[in-house]
Amino acid sequence: MGKFWDKIIKHSAECAVAALSVLLVYVAGQLAPIALPLVDALSNRVLLALMLASLLINVLLALLIYYVTRKSPLRLKYGIYWDTEKNPHCPSCQKPVATYDEYDAGWGYYCKPCGKVFPLADAAGNNKKPAEVVREL
Ligand SMILES: [Zn+2]
Repeated sequence: MGKFWDKIIKHSAECAVAALSVLLVYVAGQLAPIALPLVDALSNRVLLALMLASLLINVLLALLIYYVTRKSPLRLKYGIYWDTEKNPHCPSCQKPVATYDEYDAGWGYYCKPCGKVFPLADAAGNNKKPAEVVREL
């Protein structure tokens, strides 16, 4: 699609949002005389209960959004990131790496997107086997 059509679609979307806002304000204005006496008729006890229920729903929704959007935390161990299921991830781009093998640069995990081999070694530079590391996680 060309730039022209992108602009037309964007403009149409803006007009639709504006029209919808006007409609919502109109509907709210029509409903207010009906809704306000109902609110006056409610006791403070009921209003407090409604407020607490609303607060609870908001907190639950916030928690839900937090858990759904949360990224699984990666842990750095022996130069490689590990997720909670003990899968290795690239220390550079954090994408999963699968094969531990011997390359020209030595033993390590090869990350295809980075095109690099990352060794699995401790601070002294001693190579570690994936099975050893997984046991220690
Ligand atoms: Zn990578």
